[in-house]
Amino acid sequence: MNESCIFCRIVAGSTPATIVAHNEQALAFRDLHPKAPVHVLVIPRRHVTSLAEATDAAELGAMMVLAADVASAEGLVAGGYRVVTNIGADGGQTVPHLHLHVLGGRSMAWPPG
Ligand code: C5P
Repeated sequence: MNESCIFCRIVAGSTPATIVAHNEQALAFRDLHPKAPVHVLVIPRRHVTSLAEATDAAELGAMMVLAADVASAEGLVAGGYRVVTNIGADGGQTVPHLHLHVLGGRSMAWPPG
């Protein structure tokens, strides 16, 4: 728990969020500023700054499984969807707590900007 981290505060329940799914190691909630009709963030319950600092394969696996569960529950599997994580300044990361973006409900462009 990092008191200054907004996503740690969501895990702790002291900052509100629309939580859509969870498992022992990860939590999924709706992005406050959605970039697609479905935009859910999947985070580890522990504070991990980004994928660059991640070392726990079970925790990363729990996040990926939860991302797939969310996509399925949101009805994204037939049409397809995207899972992405931004790392550091050049990666476009603005919140320094590891998160997967689960994006769907529209056609995605490639490459991303
Ligand atoms: O990858 P990046 O770090 O830029 O993503 C952070 C995401 O967290 C943004 O999509 C932003 O809208 C979201 N966010 C949120 N709730 C907050 C703060 C940020 O959903 N309280």
